[in-house]
Amino acid sequence: MKPLFPGTPSADGQPVTLGEAGSRPVTLGKAGSRPVTLGVMGGGQLGRMFVHAAQRMGYDTCVLDPDPLSPAGLVSHQHVVADFSDPRGLADMARCCSAITTEFENVPADALLSLAATRPVAPSAACVAIAQNRVEEKAHFTACAGLSGVSVAPYAVIESNAHLRAADSNLLPGILKTARMGYDGKGQVRVNNLADLAAAWADLKNVACVLEKLMPLRSEFSVIVARGWDGRVVSFAPQRNVHVNGILAITHAYESNMPLAQSIRAQAATKLIADHVAYVGVLCIEFFVVDDGSADGGLVVNEMAPRPHNSGHYTMNACDVSQFDLQVLALAGLPLVQPRQHSPAIMLNLLGDVWFDGSGIPRSPDWAAVLALPGVHLHLYGKQGARPGRKMGHLNITGVDVAGVQSVARRAADILGLPGLD
Ligand code: ADP
Ligand code: MG
Repeated sequence: MKPLFPGTPSADGQPVTLGEAGSRPVTLGKAGSRPVTLGVMGGGQLGRMFVHAAQRMGYDTCVLDPDPLSPAGLVSHQHVVADFSDPRGLADMARCCSAITTEFENVPADALLSLAATRPVAPSAACVAIAQNRVEEKAHFTACAGLSGVSVAPYAVIESNAHLRAADSNLLPGILKTARMGYDGKGQVRVNNLADLAAAWADLKNVACVLEKLMPLRSEFSVIVARGWDGRVVSFAPQRNVHVNGILAITHAYESNMPLAQSIRAQAATKLIADHVAYVGVLCIEFFVVDDGSADGGLVVNEMAPRPHNSGHYTMNACDVSQFDLQVLALAGLPLVQPRQHSPAIMLNLLGDVWFDGSGIPRSPDWAAVLALPGVHLHLYGKQGARPGRKMGHLNITGVDVAGVQSVARRAADILGLPGLD
């Protein structure tokens, strides 16, 4: 792709009128003076952090999201308020943007395809479609896994009563996961026997599912890479993730997390998974480290996110280039340089629960006490209304050494009533 340089007038330079989709009518610039505009499908917090990164580099931004108060829409130059499949909204988006990315995997693949008819879109509809469907995702991983020294948890596709009857009892105990629309542990049921399995499938409304063997997890990691239009891949080191009630709570990002050989293997596997589908953009792969009798444990590839990831938020303060910077650079066709982590870091997710005390009474978190700690970086997403489980923001804690970062993170978690660190 021809690079889209920031801070310069866009090559097409035509005035653009938006408003067909019910967004506020606006005319962008004069002929020849319109800045290059980068677009993002989805207005959540990931879109907001993409918008901020793009704007820092001198791009204009355009967000498509049906919510007029979406976190990204609120801070973007342009916000097309429309459903993701609305042809008028997509036409506005294509007119406004020089290139378009996505901040969530459930954007309709057809919407990305239609945008791609006239604009560079990264990642492609085909790549996003793989991440939207666990059946496709597992097949993709299986095709890559043998080559890269990582495995895929044994699984079976359950799409019919015949599949249910044929289910292999070696997959039990297991987890039944809906093929589509699962996130943060939603759309998953643990099953111990075949009777449980039948009941769980009925509970999930008999939609297409995968039954996955329950793995003996030692820990969970993720690897974030960015791949350019030219096929160059750069990578952050694996970060260790702790989930509470299916939602990411803590990310530990420092060297001693994982043996070096395993870290190299996880990054190589992620690169392979990206290369295999000519991926362009930021990609996150989640891994399990499982007990397999070896000293370090085996690597199992779990799932992919075709975008920046909650577990990569530490890169905003601990690395010279963040995952959102890489999303901008990759989309714009600019060079990707290997990011360097300059500080050990811990990321603490701030869910809406922090705005309530132990008896459910609303409260204001004691930000002053948290911000008085050294190396604390507060990120809030501008969401209206805290609710338990809702992602409201995160805290990045950086410092000169791991012990110092852990100690500050413990104190911050204590002040806010967050889960313990270990
Ligand atoms: P989600 O899309 O909700 O993140 P995941 O497949 O990542 O779905 O599952 C959520 C969590 O459930 C994982 O982070 C892990 O803790 C646990 N889990 C998922 N699959 C397995 C498995 N096969 N064995 C053990 N634990 C699992
Ligand atoms: Mg997951």
